[in-house]
Amino acid sequence: MQLSDKDIDRYSRNIILPEIGGEGQYKLLQSKVLVIGMGGLGSPLLMYLAAAGIGNITIIDNDNVELSNLQRQVIHSTQNIGRPKVDSAKSYIEKINPEIKITKINSRVDTDNIIELIAKQDVIADGSDNFKTRFLVADTCFKLKKTLISAAITKYEGQISTWKNKKNLPCYRCLFANEPNDSNINNCSSNGVLGSIGGVFGSLQATEVIKEILNIGSSLSGFLNIYDLLNNTFRKIKINKDPNCKFCSGK
Ligand SMILES: [Zn+2]
Repeated sequence: MQLSDKDIDRYSRNIILPEIGGEGQYKLLQSKVLVIGMGGLGSPLLMYLAAAGIGNITIIDNDNVELSNLQRQVIHSTQNIGRPKVDSAKSYIEKINPEIKITKINSRVDTDNIIELIAKQDVIADGSDNFKTRFLVADTCFKLKKTLISAAITKYEGQISTWKNKKNLPCYRCLFANEPNDSNINNCSSNGVLGSIGGVFGSLQATEVIKEILNIGSSLSGFLNIYDLLNNTFRKIKINKDPNCKFCSGK
């Protein structure tokens, strides 16, 4: 294990935390994380992961930056309207932290690329904006036994959970058995969302990703945290494993 003097300086506020230290920082620099979606969640999520020194980050999104994105997708700028979101995000990250490796994929997550995308990662963070992608990502992470940090936001609220394929833990389908019929619907464009809600939940996702890589603190697996920021209420719900779940019970 060897951190350069520059690394020790750059990450000193991480390293001073007893749960991280030099060893933890080295682990972060060696880690591989996939961030799905460069939108309201993916923007802050990627910014904090990159700043913290996650050494190998793959980003995937097939959209171009639009004017209406800029209210919440804080990684993109007005001058990048019309450019692919992954290009815009990568160029921003290179300014924050040129020491890490960003691999960009300008594509949709689909059944053709999902296995290859996920198989080589340590942790997956889903910031996608539609149910179809969320279910595909959750199912594939379960099959490949990869840790998934999933969040979703709408209006003034959001939810976050961590999913792992472990014997006594629920899977995504124990909670959401089936995809909704309108699974391609983008919640933000139809319902609206306050930009800072993405900031809250993207930051929470980044925190859980780092905790899972380092195996520190309490994992969110088995729980769903729901925050309503308009009314300042918070609920932590225990998710039970469904003994009849068609996905994880083997029935
Ligand atoms: Zn299940």
